[in-house]
Amino acid sequence: MNSAANTMEQLVASVLAAPTAVRIDGEPRSAGLARSELIAPADGAVWTDVAVGGTAEATEAVAAAARTLPRWSAYEPARRGEALRAVADDLDAAAGQQAWPGLITRETGKRLAESKAELGLSAVYFRVFADLIEKQESVRFDAVPGHSHVVEAGPAGVVAVLTPWNFPVSIPARKIAPALAAGCSVTFKPSELAPMSSMVLAALIDRHVPGGVVDTVLGDPADVVDPWLEHPDVRAVSFTGSTRVGRLVAAGAAANFQRTVLELGGCAPFVVLADADPEAAARTLMVAKYRNNGQSCIAANQILVARPVADAFVEAFAAASRELTVGDPLDETTGLGPMAPAGDPARLRNLVQAAVADGARVVVDSADLPPAGHFAAPTVLTDVSPDSAVFRDEIFGPVAAIRTFDDVDEALAHHHDTGYGLAGYVCGTDLDAARAVGRRLRAGIVGVNTGTPNYPGAPFGGTGLSGLGYEGGRQGLEEFQAFRTIAMGPG
Ligand code: NAD
Repeated sequence: MNSAANTMEQLVASVLAAPTAVRIDGEPRSAGLARSELIAPADGAVWTDVAVGGTAEATEAVAAAARTLPRWSAYEPARRGEALRAVADDLDAAAGQQAWPGLITRETGKRLAESKAELGLSAVYFRVFADLIEKQESVRFDAVPGHSHVVEAGPAGVVAVLTPWNFPVSIPARKIAPALAAGCSVTFKPSELAPMSSMVLAALIDRHVPGGVVDTVLGDPADVVDPWLEHPDVRAVSFTGSTRVGRLVAAGAAANFQRTVLELGGCAPFVVLADADPEAAARTLMVAKYRNNGQSCIAANQILVARPVADAFVEAFAAASRELTVGDPLDETTGLGPMAPAGDPARLRNLVQAAVADGARVVVDSADLPPAGHFAAPTVLTDVSPDSAVFRDEIFGPVAAIRTFDDVDEALAHHHDTGYGLAGYVCGTDLDAARAVGRRLRAGIVGVNTGTPNYPGAPFGGTGLSGLGYEGGRQGLEEFQAFRTIAMGPG
């Protein structure tokens, strides 16, 4: 084990030794704070409790972030890039070990291999934004006689980062990395369901940037988020989570004209065209549907299959779904782990029952489930009504809702109806035709013959009920930059 790997295991151990979800000015806090219990989805039992903050800590956090902003933003881009790359190196070291991936798995229920991949992806975000800030140049125009106009980028200010439970490291990474690259400081509220995985990231970042640049407080949103939305120094809010909460955050941020990046729910169409290889399409859907135990914002939600390949596709997908072993996400042979929120298996059962009442046929729902924990069986439905909630709303679980189509225009009409617009998928052998259908999807990110369309160097973002703004790529950096045009005249 090299020394970076060694230190990462120690870092995780030290964060877990005194669990707190409050870090201000580079120091963990727990004295005198309330504590909140954390539940492991795989057995439904309380595994630890964690210190949480309130309005006093939230106010202190934003003061610390505002105080350190001038110092951090004065660092040359190369120096900021160097710090981001050091974070990336440590993330890569941790991805090869058990400690941090095991913690992510314990908190979220995602399979261990996916937890390792999440750390690897997070490292890519830090590297991509290090490169982007180092290569960003000011723009100069000499179009007006006697004048030159120079456009310079600076930091937007303090950025409030609010994240969900389902990717507790990579979603904070894709917000915090561009904010730091831009020279911003950050106040960070992780999810109450999986805070410890996020706290390791906060502690890791503190090793490489001055204390106070990233200040973390978990607590009741009314105590923590509202003060940030009301604070004049917070100039941008980056939120990922449900559409319901996104609306509240957008309304709060509007009062002070804070810039918002809102990455919300999705209802991704997965279109299998008549010329698709049905078995290859079924393999692609296995990834697009069951990634993160079905709890991903870009999960395939409305599965639309052309009639000529429908039987073969459903047979291949149903067979692969039946083979998934449901169980302990730390066991490498497990195909599907538990759901994080305790109530979600019951929510899914209700969705499926309502779809069946609307005429859907159940093709698969028979996995052996462990006796404890928040498990849901992989479920495959066909003949799903376009009006069923399972088809029109985000499922966020291992239920596949399939519908056969004769006419692609009619199939896409149902998709456009939902109002969401985050991700979409198309499978077909004529790549130009598949890409053309992809362009017709209401989606900011489209996978053609792939279930993994996301790449940190490219923008990721939705429209409509899926939110606004971008993460990833140059667009993700510019969300946290303020631009100044300096006109040099003849004087
Ligand atoms: P959630 O909306 O319940 O919670 C997200 C965050 O908001 C948490 O930190 C939570 O504490 C906080 N929050 C809750 N109430 C709040 C309030 N009134 N004011 C401010 N903050 C508040 O979402 P979740 O269950 O953690 O995550 C699942 C959702 O996130 C799904 O809808 C999923 O599609 C979405 N998601 C979207 C993306 C994307 O990139 N578009 C990625 C992952 C998840």
